[in-house]
Amino acid sequence: MVYLICKNCTRKISDFLVNQVDDLNALNDDNYFEDEENVYISLKNGKQAYMGYHKNRSISFDGCCGCKEDGPLNRICAGCEVALGREVSDCESVYHYIRIVKTSIDVIEVTTQHEDKLYTMEKSLKFNAATIEEWLVLLKWKPKEFAKRVKKI
Ligand SMILES: [Zn+2]
Ligand SMILES: [Zn+2]
Repeated sequence: MVYLICKNCTRKISDFLVNQVDDLNALNDDNYFEDEENVYISLKNGKQAYMGYHKNRSISFDGCCGCKEDGPLNRICAGCEVALGREVSDCESVYHYIRIVKTSIDVIEVTTQHEDKLYTMEKSLKFNAATIEEWLVLLKWKPKEFAKRVKKI
């Protein structure tokens, strides 16, 4: 399992992504696709809590009913506001996704025995982007402490 962070400020910018697929056609809410320059995630995985929209609405929504395929970067880091990627979401685009520039991000691998639990909790939206960072630190260094705190939720 991996997640993406902003290289500039290290904020988490995507949902947890379980596996990588080798075809854009196979992109869904649990996985990601990458080519040489970009990482593609579903619109849901780049939800507003993680990434914001470009403040200029003519850049953010420049397609017929959303964002067209080509244009400037329209999704920004919700923390430092650096432009990270291009959302493609209008009805004229075959695939809908957020195309994130690889050089702007890092891919963080989550390796913990509590991986499944963490994934399930995030899916149920009990955590926001900021607290996830804290939990990951706990997971890595204090699994017992983590288990204790999870029971309180
Ligand atoms: Zn349209
Ligand atoms: Zn940032």
